[in-house]
Amino acid sequence: MVSIDVAPLVVPLTEPFVIASARMDTTRAALVVADVEIEGRRLRGYGEAACLHPVTREDLPDLLAAAPRVQSLAGRAIARARDATAAAREVAEGSPVLSAAIECALVDGLARAAGRGARHLLAGEVDDELVTDVTLPIASAPEVTALARRWVERGFTCFKVKVGRDVDHDVAAIRAAHGVAPGAAFRVDANAGFSAADALFLLRELARAGVRVECFEQPCPREDLDAMAKVAREGGVPVVADESLRSRADLEALHRARAAHGVNLKLTKLGGLLEALEVGRAARALGMRIMVGGMVETRLGMTCAANLAAALRGVEYCDLDTAFLLASDPFVGGYDAAGPRLTLSSAPGWGVEPRAAAG
Ligand SMILES: [Mg+2]
Repeated sequence: MVSIDVAPLVVPLTEPFVIASARMDTTRAALVVADVEIEGRRLRGYGEAACLHPVTREDLPDLLAAAPRVQSLAGRAIARARDATAAAREVAEGSPVLSAAIECALVDGLARAAGRGARHLLAGEVDDELVTDVTLPIASAPEVTALARRWVERGFTCFKVKVGRDVDHDVAAIRAAHGVAPGAAFRVDANAGFSAADALFLLRELARAGVRVECFEQPCPREDLDAMAKVAREGGVPVVADESLRSRADLEALHRARAAHGVNLKLTKLGGLLEALEVGRAARALGMRIMVGGMVETRLGMTCAANLAAALRGVEYCDLDTAFLLASDPFVGGYDAAGPRLTLSSAPGWGVEPRAAAG
């Protein structure tokens, strides 16, 4: 590798992204750019380190402070994806967000050198098409309704709806969105904001209103597996753990406690592609369902997550929408989106380029 660097990647959103535990008006990410030299050819790879504090422990200043350590990787031989993972772990100790971005940038360079889409470096058989949901943030019922109407007009049929601050408000907002999108499915995400009682109340009220709920993501606090298990047992819909899953040990604890039917895999939580693949395969072996999502990320980060989903194949819940929420995306490529349907690029690497460079 010739060089590697970290720079801010802050992009404004169209609407505030409001969830139970945070509010964002811009992305809070860093861009990792790596120049690798393989068999005399110099290739540039990209990775996105997306913070969503406090969902991620890290915030943008932590990543920028780590730049000198990341730059110290220059000169390192990177021949296989495993080398990328090892290098990333070495300099991003304690920061899965940064580790994931370094690994992604190096894997991009390797895949470009091989002339193959990055997902083909991760698995033999892969998916080329994915269908994503789209997020409705916590907002007033009229605002949520207006957003739902706009997304339905664009062809979306499945909403990831953020809840978890005030259950009565959430019932009213979802019922209103259901009113303008009666055929839509809802994936409810409380970002750890509810007690089991509130989560079960929400599910009962939505069932009474005829709302189709596909799953309930992280109803209760990260450590409260008893509460998660109660919702999983009594709620009548699959529970998907997000904040409660940051490692393989977490996966085993969730399964032991019967606290979730599925897990949300994110590169930024698990520290990278290879680890996320392993955790995904382990979850499948335990009979669990899989969601693949991200933080609040540009087309670059969404493409990396989409390649993970493609390598795992048949992912039950793709949550790969955040590039749709940006006022303008600094990247092009990666996938073609027709409404919620993503067709992954066949270009080498992620197939993502900075908009300026693409012309
Ligand atoms: Mg979530």
